Amino acid sequence: GPAPEDPREAVNWLDEHERRFGLFIGGEWCPSAGKKRFDSINPATGETLASISSAGPKDIDKAVAAARTAQSGWWKLGCHGRARYLYALARQVQKHSRRLAVLDCLDNGKPIREMRDIDVPLVARHFYHHAGWAQILADEFPQHEPLGVAAQVIPWNFPLLMLAWKIAPALATGNTVVLKPAEFTSLTALAFAELCREVGLPPGVVNIVTGDGETGAKLVAHSDVDKVAFTGSTEVGKEIRRATANSSKRLTLELGGKSPFIVFDDADLDSAVEGLVNGIWFNQGEVCCAGSRLLVHEPVADRLMDKVRRRMESLRMGSPLDKAVDVGAIVAPVQLERIRSIVDRAVEEGAHCYQAEVPVPDEGLYYPPTLLTNVGPASHAAQTEIFGPVLTSMTFRTPDEAVALANNTVYGLAASVWSENINVALELAPRLKAGVVWVNSTNQFDAACGFGGYRESGYGREGGREGLEEYLVPSWSRQLPRLPES
Ligand code: NAD
Repeated sequence: GPAPEDPREAVNWLDEHERRFGLFIGGEWCPSAGKKRFDSINPATGETLASISSAGPKDIDKAVAAARTAQSGWWKLGCHGRARYLYALARQVQKHSRRLAVLDCLDNGKPIREMRDIDVPLVARHFYHHAGWAQILADEFPQHEPLGVAAQVIPWNFPLLMLAWKIAPALATGNTVVLKPAEFTSLTALAFAELCREVGLPPGVVNIVTGDGETGAKLVAHSDVDKVAFTGSTEVGKEIRRATANSSKRLTLELGGKSPFIVFDDADLDSAVEGLVNGIWFNQGEVCCAGSRLLVHEPVADRLMDKVRRRMESLRMGSPLDKAVDVGAIVAPVQLERIRSIVDRAVEEGAHCYQAEVPVPDEGLYYPPTLLTNVGPASHAAQTEIFGPVLTSMTFRTPDEAVALANNTVYGLAASVWSENINVALELAPRLKAGVVWVNSTNQFDAACGFGGYRESGYGREGGREGLEEYLVPSWSRQLPRLPES
């Protein structure tokens, strides 16, 4: 049944605390210099959740200046000082876990069960893990220093988790940040700003500016930014790469994907089907590393597809606040339209489309779990990131053919390999162009493990030691021999 407490409580709490959705700059809530605002809408109901400020150039200047002013003090605070704040933030996330879960759920349309069991625990873990790193930074990176001010721009699919992936390593390494959430999902970023205030984080260490792509473009182009960290579409990633090309800014890009999910004839098919549910129907398939291209060994193709279709029938789609729901709402009309148009085109081009006959709520932005078969490897549907609950399926005969099909994409973010023969899996894995290869599993994340792409999925890693290096610079001056004292 629906979540017992009133979901509006979370919005009211936020509204009360952040004084009607202003910007969070220099440790304070402040109105935007311009008057521009936009609405945050609940995609499951169409209800307006909040009116959000759109940050303009003056606001960006102010936020970057606040981050700049705060940076040297934050670095000088030292390892233990920074670690204390990161631990405090982790605890504060846990304390407010239900509110944060409800906010992303209302704002994005994702199922509350996933927020509760996956997103929020991973967010807390990310802050705890990086608090640990902060503590040992001087031992582990004795001759490094922070880059300075980081401009961070994130997407709407995991609003709070992407914020954690950005902010925790930047703070642990002594950088300060200006973060812009996606325009569809500003609420948990604003809630997080309030948590920063609650733990007494020094003013200016974290600044949150809301707005759309125009705000994002202004932020990454700002001349006093040292590092740009972006997660989002490949298209915008390329734009940012061009926009920063003529500068000395450090850049990391976490972009799109079309990840293969490869099932061999000796795989445990029932486990593989559960893996597929997780791979493509988790978060409505709005996952950068979604296992969106099923490649199945010919001898078991019919059997596997029967099992997949049957499993699709038992997926529950509906209100994101319902704890029993597997598939929630699609984030916004533009995204729903994109999914529809790609599937329509695939059908026009000869694909067979199977959609589970699951009950669909009358209102709200929903798209049923979908399976496309009879798609060519070069077809639009097999090549394009759909970012929705749509699985495309192809067959292969040999491991070589599986590798060729898997790598036949401009992307390279993730891959899954399913086989009961570990030799098959281990021989295949290094031949796949992917930042991560999961064997007999999928969508496994951990704060200790660097995540990132190959090719048009971007570059740079988030998480683990590699993730910290993206925010540090070797400081050669510290390595010079000391001059003898006169
Ligand atoms: P998007 O690229 O449209 O937007 C991402 C963010 O960039 C938003 O905050 C947006 O306001 C901002 N933006 C838009 N134009 C900009 C510009 N010119 N300059 C600066 N900022 C700009 O992506 P989206 O639709 O929000 O997210 C979906 C995409 O994100 C998918 O392609 C998905 O694969 C990708 N993604 C990747 C990862 C990863 O780790 N690789 C993780 C999550 C999502």
